[in-house]
Amino acid sequence: MNEVVRISCDIDLDVPGIRQGALQFPLSTDASAWGRLLTPIVVAVGEESGPTVLVTGASHGDEYEGPLGIMRLLQDMPGTAFRGRLIALPALNYPALMAGRRLSPLDGGNMNRSFPGRADGGPTLALAHWVYTRLLPLADAVIDIHSGGSSLRFAPSAVIHELPDPAQMAATRALAEAFAAPFTQVLTELDSVGELDGAVEALGLPFLSTELGGGGGVTPQTVAMAHEGLQRCLRHLGLVDTAPPPTLRSRFLYVPETGYVMPSRSGLLDPIVEVGEAVQAGQVLAKLYDIDEPLREPVQLLAPQQGVLVCRAARGGVARGDTVAVVGADV
Ligand SMILES: [Zn+2]
Repeated sequence: MNEVVRISCDIDLDVPGIRQGALQFPLSTDASAWGRLLTPIVVAVGEESGPTVLVTGASHGDEYEGPLGIMRLLQDMPGTAFRGRLIALPALNYPALMAGRRLSPLDGGNMNRSFPGRADGGPTLALAHWVYTRLLPLADAVIDIHSGGSSLRFAPSAVIHELPDPAQMAATRALAEAFAAPFTQVLTELDSVGELDGAVEALGLPFLSTELGGGGGVTPQTVAMAHEGLQRCLRHLGLVDTAPPPTLRSRFLYVPETGYVMPSRSGLLDPIVEVGEAVQAGQVLAKLYDIDEPLREPVQLLAPQQGVLVCRAARGGVARGDTVAVVGADV
């Protein structure tokens, strides 16, 4: 049986030069019977051989540091001497980015819960499958720029995971040091099934993710962090020879599963501590009010450990089971 292939890439990924194109996926809708979903792809192939680096953004469509930082990087490329190959997907979940939503409005797909994907799946699964089967085998390193989206706000961080292979862990850690975000979270994921992270890590490659800001928008600082962090990673990996020097040494924080704070009821969240601030175990991070009973004592949400508040809910209203705060501790 022939493998189902619903995605085609309309540019060559091997010939030297810088090209932009699209991954084309047939999409038949009420508005467009014979239409296609076009996901932008850019490749920069040097004359001189070197590593292949895959960079991705907008895996979640309400996280803008990725697409903006990657576009700044790509606009620099024509005037930059480079070797090897950069493959960029600045809008991995393009329909979600266009809608300003975390998930794809086409199929409800969460791109970072869809790997390794399915060739015969809907747009999100099929894209994940194409990236998994066509791009990851080419890659020597993968950098996936995330942010908090509309529901979370982060202390600007690179994100890596504890890996069993010491050499892979060292390469991953070195990539995070090169990115040089204010913090690097060694994160225990609440839900790692289907993430690009684990798919790349299982191949033995260095993988770097980030959580640069959030609240559904960007700041000049967080976009600059994405851009300059990517430049430093490309220099570290040997694609380019120059990059802006880091302004700081990243502070590594270990985030265990017990570092996550979730309320057992819904309410209006009054944040007491801002992300990036130091906290003591048992310190009040936020208070949860009941708008239906304004005189009712608010629930106090406490720091589960000493460390730094790395994440908090960006929205005022939170529900039972939402992550409303995350505390990381110095490694
Ligand atoms: Zn994300």
